[in-house]
Amino acid sequence: MKNIVIIGAGYGGLTAALRLERLLKKHSFFKVHLIDKNPFHTIKTQLHEAAVRKTEVSIPLYKILKNRNIQFQLGEVENIDVENKTVQINDKLLPFLFLIIAIGSKVNYYNIPGMAEHSFALQSLHDADKIYEHISNVCATSASEKDESIRKNNLRFVIGGGGLSGVEFAGELADHTSKCVANFNIANNDVEIILIEAAKRLVPFMEESFSSRIEKKLIEKGIKVLTDLKIEQRTDDEIFLSNNSVIKSKNLIWTGGIRISDLIKRGGLKTSTVGRLIVDEYLQSESNKHIYAIGDSANAINPVTRKPVPAAAQFALQQGRLAAENIYAEIFGRVKKKYYPKVLGEVVSLGKHLAIGWLALPFLKKITFVGFLGRLLKTAIREKHIFLLRKESRNWITY
Ligand SMILES: Cc1cc2nc3c(=O)[nH]c(=O)nc-3n(C[C@H](O)[C@H](O)[C@H](O)COP(=O)(O)OP(=O)(O)OC[C@H]3O[C@@H](n4cnc5c(N)ncnc54)[C@H](O)[C@@H]3O)c2cc1C
Repeated sequence: MKNIVIIGAGYGGLTAALRLERLLKKHSFFKVHLIDKNPFHTIKTQLHEAAVRKTEVSIPLYKILKNRNIQFQLGEVENIDVENKTVQINDKLLPFLFLIIAIGSKVNYYNIPGMAEHSFALQSLHDADKIYEHISNVCATSASEKDESIRKNNLRFVIGGGGLSGVEFAGELADHTSKCVANFNIANNDVEIILIEAAKRLVPFMEESFSSRIEKKLIEKGIKVLTDLKIEQRTDDEIFLSNNSVIKSKNLIWTGGIRISDLIKRGGLKTSTVGRLIVDEYLQSESNKHIYAIGDSANAINPVTRKPVPAAAQFALQQGRLAAENIYAEIFGRVKKKYYPKVLGEVVSLGKHLAIGWLALPFLKKITFVGFLGRLLKTAIREKHIFLLRKESRNWITY
């Protein structure tokens, strides 16, 4: 029996596992193993909504993998032995013929003093739950606080990082805190939300016109947007900025960047500066052709721009399918396909009934969405993901 091992049951890993199992259906000599440290698949693109308990974002893996010939293993992979082709999980060694690394990304604190100790991350369901509990506590304790300046300091929320997850969370937070103050009879203007971005504009990877629309909508929601400003230090209740100003707040949510776990580097594989595995045009590691990487953990190059594709769910899904097909091709001596990313669109949600983005149309055309239509589109994208999981796994999947 030969093992094909996939680490990570996120967008990329789960897609690869389901596709491989289907391709290898008639070849019982091969076994697909899927490993994750959680027993559920997280719809990470909706984590900002989970942080205000608006959406359910976890799907139990047993529902997706039911009746599929995939061996799921719960645990955290601690080591990859490239030479002996094994992964170490729960103190056991699992040998592999092919390995797909799909471990996603983690928060990057960029060594900013105090940031790791005194901020909330938004990278996992656990992080989202912690944020929700914290906001609930802040609202409840502020309701009985008689001193106005203490109350205002308590209710000042700062989001560090105005990329996709930062702006999406800011939009949700504005809606959530307005409900929160109404429930606790707190004055609306006691709450302040500040979004800080180091670049000159929000969501810098999108076109400039989208950045300015996003900024305008967030300002309309009462959010203070500060761009071209860096957080240089964090203490328990203060945030020190690059223009020498200081913001008093105990509530800092850090969405300023991502990095990849050291697992890949520790295995001796070639990685980029943020730790993504360097892969060739087939998504195979340049250091070892038995190892593939997909999604956030892969430094996959767009052959048109010659730049690494951004960390996004749509690319993780496409790469998951391709890695599965290329492994199948390699086993049976067929021609492997080169990676070519398809940019299907970009949609940024900014709270209730509001999203901004675009969708690709045939002949290189685009359609732009702002407002409620955009919001419907964002919901449709999430539903499409569930629909495709149902289709690939042939199981009726619910949260
Ligand atoms: C708040 C937020 C909003 C976002 N919004 C969007 C959006 O609108 N559109 C978009 O395209 N992208 C968005 N993204 C980015 C998107 O979620 C990621 O690009 C996508 O999840 C990457 O998929 P992946 O398969 O590489 O990794 P993930 O989906 O992160 O999955 C990685 C899996 O690996 C597991 N794992 C990690 N290490 C180990 C280990 N050592 N052992 C075992 N298991 C392990 C994890 O538990 C996880 O299940 C958003 C991200 C955030 C945080």
